[in-house]
Amino acid sequence: MPIINRIAEFHDDMKTWRRHLHANPELGYELHETAAFVIERLREFGVDEIHDGIAETGLVAIINGRGDGPTIGLRADMDALPITEIPDRPHKSRNQGVMHACGHDGHTAMLLGAARYLAETRNFKGRVALIFQPAEEGGAGGEAMVKAGIMDDFAIKQVFGIHNFPGMPEGLIGTRPGPLLAAADEFQIDITGKGGHAAMPNTSVDPVMIAVQIAQALQTIVSRNVDPIDSAVISVTRIDAGTTHNIIPGTAFMQGTVRTVRKETQADIVARMERIVTNIATALGGEAKLNYHYGYPPTVNHPAETEFALKVAREVAGEQLVTDDIPPTMGAEDFAYMLEARPGAFLCLGTGEGAGLHHPEFDFNDEVSPIGASFFVRLVETAQPVG
Ligand SMILES: [Zn+2]
Ligand SMILES: [Zn+2]
Repeated sequence: MPIINRIAEFHDDMKTWRRHLHANPELGYELHETAAFVIERLREFGVDEIHDGIAETGLVAIINGRGDGPTIGLRADMDALPITEIPDRPHKSRNQGVMHACGHDGHTAMLLGAARYLAETRNFKGRVALIFQPAEEGGAGGEAMVKAGIMDDFAIKQVFGIHNFPGMPEGLIGTRPGPLLAAADEFQIDITGKGGHAAMPNTSVDPVMIAVQIAQALQTIVSRNVDPIDSAVISVTRIDAGTTHNIIPGTAFMQGTVRTVRKETQADIVARMERIVTNIATALGGEAKLNYHYGYPPTVNHPAETEFALKVAREVAGEQLVTDDIPPTMGAEDFAYMLEARPGAFLCLGTGEGAGLHHPEFDFNDEVSPIGASFFVRLVETAQPVG
């Protein structure tokens, strides 16, 4: 059961919507025209309810099936990036410095395609909640939607999302149970020593030495404490101190990132960092404070829902074009918040050759739209079949 014929029939429409969105990208939570466009299409399709203004410009549309049943959530993100698009193409961005370089225009078009078919055919029980969210790119729009109460308000039982993936063969659907994408956190360390003459270090507390030793000790966490089969990154990316050759500075500043795929590992790393930072500084006669900022949590797929999604993917894409063990990557996704709130799965859809995500030459590959839309539709029809 490959691509749904009816969806193939409006492949051109999906392409047109996608290119319209690509030409008119918007950032973060300011997706006023984008949301208006999505709402206009959903009205044309005859969905049953549209709830807009959630998390500012997010929205949830409801399509009722035939007979009682649970509500399944399908999610697309709608925001673009602050990147200047390089190539000239008919649908090149008309908003200078803003560009759909992550393919969220394609995600939105695919979910619209699924919405049109589902509203037309209603070959399922229960309801579908189409979730169109703002601010995936750093603004935690997914978290804002969850906090606004969409999971409870619409009684969503499971959630599924897709991300396009350049470099993976066109049409290949891949995912894995468990951690798929990383938590992306940031840290800063403020070190206080005692400044003085560089020729008389005995009268000072050298914050440069404290910073160097902290940087080295932090590198023992991943190599000595994290399970070798697990994955984590700690990178110190900045050390600032001092002004010239003959003065020991009074303070130093450090910055860096931590990436983890398991919550337990993340908690352990934070605790170890606290101890290392505080105790090394104290041992050397100074003081240091760790400021740890949590970013998106890891995107962790639920095993049963992942298995189910893979089964559906095999029917849509074919056995050879589905893989159930793509390696986790250290990128991050705010769909993670939805997977913390409800069971579900996040899948990657290969788009073949071409510029990578967040690249100024990127363009979503419209050829895969019918695959993504068919996958969404079959998820619903298989999870909540009629009769
Ligand atoms: Zn992105
Ligand atoms: Zn993205």
